[in-house]
Amino acid sequence: MKASPKEIKIMQKMQPGTITLSGFLGNDKRTLNEIIEDDFRLLNALEFTPEEIADRMQYFTDKSWNAFTDEVLIDDIYQVETEVVRGKLPCPFGHVGIYRKAITKFTNTRKNISLSWTSLNIHLIRAHGFFEGKGSSFRLEPAELVNAIFDR
Ligand SMILES: [Zn+2]
Repeated sequence: MKASPKEIKIMQKMQPGTITLSGFLGNDKRTLNEIIEDDFRLLNALEFTPEEIADRMQYFTDKSWNAFTDEVLIDDIYQVETEVVRGKLPCPFGHVGIYRKAITKFTNTRKNISLSWTSLNIHLIRAHGFFEGKGSSFRLEPAELVNAIFDR
């Protein structure tokens, strides 16, 4: 499928060195809409919506936000640390809002899975169903993410 002009404009903002140093698309050869559609299909199979996932990520980020660099143990299972750094990032989809730079490091101690996400990741998932391209530093695999943040 060919990318639309609007899609191309967004994909240009997702290139390395534009909004973030490493960009959002990694080495993915698919167009932006293809990436989003493929992940949406995966989520459907897992029976989760982007909003449910974003809510759960936000829950962990909020609970660890004021702990500075200390890890907090949430619900006896999840070890979480959120590092808030200086600066803000705009959404590459052209939203008006800007997002605080914060990285949440997350470990599900029961399943022994660790992963990280940024505040912008949460927005990109919630508002755009976008988990980033394959090979991107902050790509989140929907199946791995769901397995890590939900206890089931
Ligand atoms: Zn946005």
